[in-house]
Amino acid sequence: MSHEILIPGGSGLAFCSEPTRLADRANAVATAASAAALSADDASQAAAAQANGTSVPLWAGSYYNEGMDSDVFDKLKEECGVFGVFGHPEASALSFFGLHALQHRGEESAGLCTTDGNEFFYHRGMGLVKEVFDNDKIQYLKGSMAIGHVRYSTSGESKLQNAQPLVFKYRGGDIAIATNGNLVNAAEIRRELEEEGSIFQTTSDTEVVIHLIARSKRDNIEDAVKDALKRVEGGFAFLIMVHDKLFVAQDKNALRPLVIGKLGDAYTFASETCAFETIGAVYLRDIKPGEMLIVDKNGLREERFAEMERRAICAMEFIYFSRPDSDLDEINIHMARKRMGQVLAQESFVDADVITGVPDSSISAAIGFAEQTGIPYEIGLIKNRYTGRTFIQPSQELRERGVKMKLSAVRKVVEGKRVVMIDDSIVRGTTSLRIVNMLREAGAAEVHVRITSPPYKNPCFYGIDTPSRKELIASSKSIEEIRKAINADSLHFLTKEGLLEAVGRTKDEYNRGMCMGCFDNDYPTKVFDEEEAGCGCG
Ligand code: SF4
Repeated sequence: MSHEILIPGGSGLAFCSEPTRLADRANAVATAASAAALSADDASQAAAAQANGTSVPLWAGSYYNEGMDSDVFDKLKEECGVFGVFGHPEASALSFFGLHALQHRGEESAGLCTTDGNEFFYHRGMGLVKEVFDNDKIQYLKGSMAIGHVRYSTSGESKLQNAQPLVFKYRGGDIAIATNGNLVNAAEIRRELEEEGSIFQTTSDTEVVIHLIARSKRDNIEDAVKDALKRVEGGFAFLIMVHDKLFVAQDKNALRPLVIGKLGDAYTFASETCAFETIGAVYLRDIKPGEMLIVDKNGLREERFAEMERRAICAMEFIYFSRPDSDLDEINIHMARKRMGQVLAQESFVDADVITGVPDSSISAAIGFAEQTGIPYEIGLIKNRYTGRTFIQPSQELRERGVKMKLSAVRKVVEGKRVVMIDDSIVRGTTSLRIVNMLREAGAAEVHVRITSPPYKNPCFYGIDTPSRKELIASSKSIEEIRKAINADSLHFLTKEGLLEAVGRTKDEYNRGMCMGCFDNDYPTKVFDEEEAGCGCG
């Protein structure tokens, strides 16, 4: 097993970034070979992992659609997913299934840390949940408490060392952390801690939280965690685990989703309720803004580390990120998207022959648009679900056709038809252009584009990977200019009022309790330096 034990000087923290029983660490620590491991590139990590039978190799080398996510499919990248269990003898198996249900929130790496109350057991790797874990690894992860993570990195690099949970040793024992979101003041805190002698082992902003806990003068872990949470700002959902306690915290605006459920006597925590459906847990409620839950042998205590501020759940969770079978603040995502389609039809009816949605996130809205207009919904676009990474390297010509490896038009559905194509957002405009052209090549007579969000004009600072402001097409072009750029016959974006109506949250909350910063530049927190604030999901 390739142990990568990193021993920082001065910070009071030891970092374990590779599967290992932490009780076995003492010998490995003594080798202090970790400094070299820290600088190893992905290929050597992959080779080492391959030699040891771990799951990294998929990450090494080129694959046929490498780089295409930004070139061909310039969708916003989902942030991360977290899952936790307290008090169940099969905590690791439950977490495996929970993380699998959250796979859409991050496909780059997956990890799990468990404890039996004495030792920590830990495994993580690059790739999908089912690639990272097998039965042996799940059996190895003993104990009744677990936290897990699936990751899509934003500006924190795509390396194993940034995969979560992050596990450290500090003066109080072992501690593990899994995060969804982004801290807007991470760079500032990190600079301050580095000036005071801390050495960071990852490029993940989550590590600052552990440093703050480790450096706390408080003599109990609960106060130390609370103090650390008070220092950080941004959009985050944290699961923090020590041997006998699980801490669950939500930022003071509740920007990122986090829910609590029960499975028998066990507590479960997840980014989305779809994970509870998978394991048979019962949803209890969403975690409140500024709330910190502490779960231990005495049960669950509800505390808070900050006063609740403007409630501001990410609007893009409703529009795009969350799974349709999830509920967010007790609103079903599929139903909300369907209403977006209905409102979109009211705002921008166009006479057409067929309605289609870009899979998967826009299918619900397309159904809503069709219901509202009476124009039939058809599957005019098909997503190839098997475009995972491969080591086959095609010619440049084939690479340029890469979008067709991911999406195809159904010629018999669109040929000769006036098509309304529903999508969730336009980022740079390149994807929309390709899809419109694909429909035209398949014979569509007209292509009318309808978008279930307002124009995406501003970057996100809370864990969503967005290009810089100048790359966002809506930041500099009028709607008519965008229409021309994407070669559509007509184009309409759902208005902000229409979105608020469709989501239908409590009317007396500002923006109905949603963050819409990327649409209206009205961010719920102080925004720090744009360049520095992008270090996401961990
Ligand atoms: S800025 Fe946009 S993407 Fe980011 S949290 Fe707010 S609504 Fe979501």
